[in-house]
Amino acid sequence: MDIGGTKVAAGVVNEQGAILDRLIVPTPSHSPQSVEDAIVGVVDKLQRRYRVDTVGIGAAGWVDNEQSVVRFSPHLAWRAEPLKARLTARIDLPLIVDNDANAAAWAEYRFGAGRNSSVMVCLTLGTGIGGGLVIGGQLFRGTYGMAGEWGHMIAVPGGHWCECGNRGCWEQYASGNALVREARALARTNSPAAYRLLEMVGGDPDQITGAEVTAAAIAGEPNSVELLADVGAWLGRGIANLAAALDPEVVVIGGGVSAAGDLLLVPAQQAFSRTLTGRGFREEARLVLAHFRNDAGLIGAADLARHAMVEPPDSARFGFWPRRRKGRLKARLSADGLWPTRP
Ligand SMILES: [Zn+2]
Repeated sequence: MDIGGTKVAAGVVNEQGAILDRLIVPTPSHSPQSVEDAIVGVVDKLQRRYRVDTVGIGAAGWVDNEQSVVRFSPHLAWRAEPLKARLTARIDLPLIVDNDANAAAWAEYRFGAGRNSSVMVCLTLGTGIGGGLVIGGQLFRGTYGMAGEWGHMIAVPGGHWCECGNRGCWEQYASGNALVREARALARTNSPAAYRLLEMVGGDPDQITGAEVTAAAIAGEPNSVELLADVGAWLGRGIANLAAALDPEVVVIGGGVSAAGDLLLVPAQQAFSRTLTGRGFREEARLVLAHFRNDAGLIGAADLARHAMVEPPDSARFGFWPRRRKGRLKARLSADGLWPTRP
């Protein structure tokens, strides 16, 4: 299930990540109770049609590391909402709750553009930059479930204000919002360069949307191409920062802005290669477009729930040190007398 600000999108997903059936229910975002009722109702309906083993919920919000409490949701009324406990009381199935961007990243890792990569960074370019990180086959959530908020790394000290309360965050330069802000600013200059952009929206700069700029760029409008290239360049520089910290094998780029394809990806790749630490003396991460569009959150949530049945959630906390592997290592070292034992 993918719970957004306006709807609950649910599906029955098989082990290969294919959606067998789906249901979408609009939800009033101001009421946690009605969202909860919608979730329970949807599970009930789908359970009548299929043998459901487990339920995965991807929610737009900060989810704690036990995958149970939604600490805060910008588009829903959840504040420290014990979602897992509430739902488990009403749904008689194993159930997990995770952040929707984590779920989407997991779908790309399991079935999409980042399949089987050793370290995968997933970036979702929407109004901001969301994303997820998979290391050694495990979703990495950080200590408190807050990992992956790289949209708020500071790219330009003293730059544009961000809704997080800081200035100059990366997502103020490399997201859908940045594209729209720059397009509108260009349109307001009354420059001949903005003529076509303004014409598209009947002369009102405030009517320009990211989708329109992207569509215009795809149609070959040169100024829209430039605007997307600027966003792409900021994207590439930020990814070079992430590569300096994480050394990923693949960086998957999804979200609305990624619909621009190579118009975004090529400038991003150029800026990335030009900024990367150790360039010329190392392999570079592959920058690729996401495989899934709108279904990533749903597919990933379902597969995370399945994954949690195989490996208990607390072993996923430290992605690089799953319990199974630790067990094997302990057995090997104990045999050699190297594993510390308590008296
Ligand atoms: Zn910010």
